[in-house]
Amino acid sequence: MEKEICWNITARCNQNCKYCHRFLNISDLSYEQNLSILNNLEESGINSITWTGGEALLLTGIDDLLECSYNKGIKNKIITNGKLLTKERIDKIYKYLDSITLSIDSVDDDINDSLGRGKCHFQEIKEILDYIKEKKYDIKIRINSVVCKNNSSNFNELVDFLNNYNIYSWRIFKFMPLREKAIINKETFDISMNEYSKVVDMIKQQSKIKNIDTRIEEDMEKKYVLILANGDIVITNNGKDEKVGNALFDSLSYLI
Ligand code: SF4
Repeated sequence: MEKEICWNITARCNQNCKYCHRFLNISDLSYEQNLSILNNLEESGINSITWTGGEALLLTGIDDLLECSYNKGIKNKIITNGKLLTKERIDKIYKYLDSITLSIDSVDDDINDSLGRGKCHFQEIKEILDYIKEKKYDIKIRINSVVCKNNSSNFNELVDFLNNYNIYSWRIFKFMPLREKAIINKETFDISMNEYSKVVDMIKQQSKIKNIDTRIEEDMEKKYVLILANGDIVITNNGKDEKVGNALFDSLSYLI
């Protein structure tokens, strides 16, 4: 199975999702070090990178790294909460991107606030979608959503909202208490497989989006190789994160 290379290029974030399972307290590398990793990825034969974080767009120099990666012929996918994706930024970087994945779990401001995304989150995502639609930019829009206790009964409204746009794919994550805050807040957000499946079934019936994809905990083990902000290469095995190298020095070719 082909694994997705997820480069968590910064651990910093400008949202505070209480279900977040990113690795915390890792410092950013310099631009030059990240460029070395990018060169290494190219030499390792990697032709597709998912840029994520934290919030990848917070990293100084990320726009230049995306351009450089694009010029190497690498397919760039970025996952963002959208807070820094201004119209000017979209105009600047869309040409380097194969897709933009926007994270949204609800159209309800109070629910978004309770999840830690903040009350403005829906409006910010809507403005981005409206702008890309208006400009007719040739870029795939993907959506990531997390289903948890707080939002599982409100997904119909999100389906209706997204049906107004030309969305390429929608990835529906079950809340996963993998590490850090997600473990601390497990009781607040955890849902059963049955509840999750009901939401997924409803989405598949009502959404106009053709590519609906699901993610549960075991997928995180099989489908991803993570590169952390310090370059560490991490895979997850039996629920445990395992460092298998550092992308500043080690080839990744054997992992793909
Ligand atoms: S889930 Fe994403 S947007 Fe939310 S705090 Fe974590 S990294 Fe930031």
